[in-house]
Amino acid sequence: MTIGRLAAVIGHPVAHSLSPVIHRAAFDASGLDWTYVAFDVPPGSAAEAVAAMRVLGIGGLSVTMPHKDAVAAAVDRLDDAARALGAVNTVSWDGDELVGSSTDGDGFVASLADAGVEVAGARVAVLGAGGAARALIDALGRTRADSIIVINRTASKAEDAALLARRASVGGFDDISSADIVVNATSIGMGIEPGSASTDALPCDPALFGDRHVVVDLVYHPLETAWLAAARRCGARTVDGLGMLVHQAALQQHIWTGILPDTGVMRSAAESHLRGNSP
Ligand code: NDP
Repeated sequence: MTIGRLAAVIGHPVAHSLSPVIHRAAFDASGLDWTYVAFDVPPGSAAEAVAAMRVLGIGGLSVTMPHKDAVAAAVDRLDDAARALGAVNTVSWDGDELVGSSTDGDGFVASLADAGVEVAGARVAVLGAGGAARALIDALGRTRADSIIVINRTASKAEDAALLARRASVGGFDDISSADIVVNATSIGMGIEPGSASTDALPCDPALFGDRHVVVDLVYHPLETAWLAAARRCGARTVDGLGMLVHQAALQQHIWTGILPDTGVMRSAAESHLRGNSP
């Protein structure tokens, strides 16, 4: 058993990050004497945070916005996903070297499997082409998904993201009705409670959905977005964004400690926290 080590998340802002709650629950469940804290690192200071990790011997780093690209330039080497994306969400030690990885995409794929959603043979429509969308397009490209359609407000970004996977191409809202899985990887819906006046903005018209669709929202605050609720009313099966958050964190712990933690415990801790009922 590894004794008394520290892992941390760096981001800005980071005060409301669920990562400490999820990671501490996982370390406890695995019986590891690790602790996990959040460091608010201002934009432009990511390289200094990585240097501090070296000096302080911090056992693992989670990296969130806005530092994912800068950390990719500050570590000693990158894994395949982080190299393809030019972005890092995990830093770990390999001997004396710091390795940058990206677990976001594989965490997304694992969350679909956990929800019982079959990716093999599926036509997947991804709404968005930012950091999260790119991570899941890259990971879906390593699955047996039939095709990946990238739909984004800014066409040039969609074209760039579609280059990440061989079976990916740029599409439009017309492609949604023939998709099997539709993922919101835009930031639309974040922090907007269903029923509030701001719910006019939805990633796409939910009337496009029927009972053949699996609809996934990466937004997890609120857990049930207005868009997911509307998709469910149209007959779609829905999956919330907490699964991806939990699974990318579980993969981080596997990299740091060699132990894959109990994702059920992690999810319960996150749900409890989101309900304002933190243990
Ligand atoms: P980025 O800022 O990198 O990308 C944002 C994307 O949303 C872009 O494609 C952007 O389009 C699009 N977008 C934003 N506003 C609008 C709008 N009004 N209309 C149309 N498109 C819009 O963000 P991330 O990729 O990092 O994050 C996206 C979402 O995913 C966030 O809500 C984030 O919280 C969530 N997320 C969830 C994770 C999880 O584990 N569940 C993990 C990571 C992120 P354009 O290119 O045209 O600007």
